[in-house]
Amino acid sequence: MAGIQEQEQVDVAAPEVAVPAAREFAVENPATGEVIAHCPDLGAEEIAAMARRGREVQPAWEALGFEGRGRILKRMQKWLIDHQEEVIAVIRSETGKTYEDALIAEISYGAAAFGFWATNAEKYLAEEKVKSSAILVKGKKLRLRYKPLGLVGVIGPWNYPLTNSFGDCVPALAAGNSVILKPSEITPLTSLKLAEGLKACGIPDGVFQVATGLGATGAALVDQVDMIMFTGSTATGKKVMKTAADTLTPVSLELGGKDPMIVLADADVERAANTALYYGMLNGGQTCISIERVYVESPVYDEFVAKVTEKARALRQGDGGAGTADVGSMTFPPQVDIVERHVEDAKAKGARVVVGGSRGHHDKGYWYEPTVLVDVDHTMLAMTEETFGPTLPIMKVRDEEEAITLANDSPYGLGASVFGKDTGHAEAVARRIDAGAVCVNDALVNYSALELPMGGAKASGLGTRHGAGGIRKYCQQQAVLITPLALKKDPHMYPYNAKMTGRLSKLFKFLYGRGDRG
Ligand code: NAD
Repeated sequence: MAGIQEQEQVDVAAPEVAVPAAREFAVENPATGEVIAHCPDLGAEEIAAMARRGREVQPAWEALGFEGRGRILKRMQKWLIDHQEEVIAVIRSETGKTYEDALIAEISYGAAAFGFWATNAEKYLAEEKVKSSAILVKGKKLRLRYKPLGLVGVIGPWNYPLTNSFGDCVPALAAGNSVILKPSEITPLTSLKLAEGLKACGIPDGVFQVATGLGATGAALVDQVDMIMFTGSTATGKKVMKTAADTLTPVSLELGGKDPMIVLADADVERAANTALYYGMLNGGQTCISIERVYVESPVYDEFVAKVTEKARALRQGDGGAGTADVGSMTFPPQVDIVERHVEDAKAKGARVVVGGSRGHHDKGYWYEPTVLVDVDHTMLAMTEETFGPTLPIMKVRDEEEAITLANDSPYGLGASVFGKDTGHAEAVARRIDAGAVCVNDALVNYSALELPMGGAKASGLGTRHGAGGIRKYCQQQAVLITPLALKKDPHMYPYNAKMTGRLSKLFKFLYGRGDRG
């Protein structure tokens, strides 16, 4: 079987596959450009074998119940914290992110998620007693049950290999499904590392499997599963939905974004500048809910730009240990070209680069400097297309109406933020933005509230993760009706006769024919 060639600090086992893969792909450390591992590029036959295995073991996993499954997930929460240095090393080796970005946005989210779903799955999926006013079900017991779908496929992106992929795998597992995770081919090692952890924590063989491979592996997975949870670009999300249509497989899609931030004239400019910089540059700007564009009301524009500029100049970029760098490398080599194209396009159309604006001075790896752009407008790609890099374009606006219009002038609608000291007013502005999540005097941290739904409006997605909807989507909502005291024959049954029809007609007139009496 083609396995992983381990190098340097990367320490992950080869994925278990029933059929050996014929091909492999290389995984690079983007901070250095070195190849650090090779993984199997699984084809349709291998995915079908994994799907059979997943289906075989699912009933026993479901039968373990919430408590049994929760015990394993809670063990995994502790495992993650106990092994955090190893996991951070693996995450950093394939993403180039800083130590703190891996700790704060991956380990802490992942550990919280294992515990949260272990504790809350039962509450969200508890069977519900349902009351009905329908005359035909009088005296019958009605129940709503959340029954696991069976085999769930999760397809992940490269920007947060732990947070994004496991944020979806964990609730799917907690609900009683088997899961096959297809991580991004750019960052498969984190998933393999966590699979080791789950195995050590006692997850039964085959309940959680990692299918490494390129895009075609993801497409093959869509054909095999009962539900597909996809996180990635809007373009690929559309392809996944088209493929899923052939088998009528339900999909949930978490896609791209172009999150706006609005700074109102009464904002605390210092907080707004700190937040814009942090959530614009976090993870090298490679976060779906990064602040991608900023609109500032003219009275505070100069002060805001001055503060952001000063703070951005002080940012340290590098790949050293904890506390040595604020911004890491880019993860996906072609993303550097996209960032460069957006900056060059803005410059050609009249924008000014006040900080950064180039790949910097690195002799290896894939880097782009933290970059602040001003004098930007909506003719520029940097303001209209997802950049997904360490850029912060800032635009002066006349007033909040112009800011709201521009914020909504996008095919995307993932997140948005509004800054203003009058929080009631800022909230009213925020509620007018077409986005799945809006924050006032903050950004992005809503994602850490696992109780709060997170999903995109417009081209940013379909469905939500987190909260009740984030686990119920992995279940069939099964309606159960029980007739405890069953007559030999109900009055409306065959043969129809005029007398009974007349009685029923009178009853329906009484029930529904009295206007506003309901
Ligand atoms: P991508 O769409 O290129 O790839 C995502 C995954 O899809 C990868 O695993 C890839 O191998 C797989 N894939 C490719 N072609 C496929 C096909 N035809 N069928 C099935 N699977 C296929 O995305 P990416 O570049 O890895 O990630 C970056 C994008 O993800 C950005 O647009 C970002 O905004 C988005 N994202 C969204 C969220 C969210 O929650 N909304 C979170 C993180 C990232």
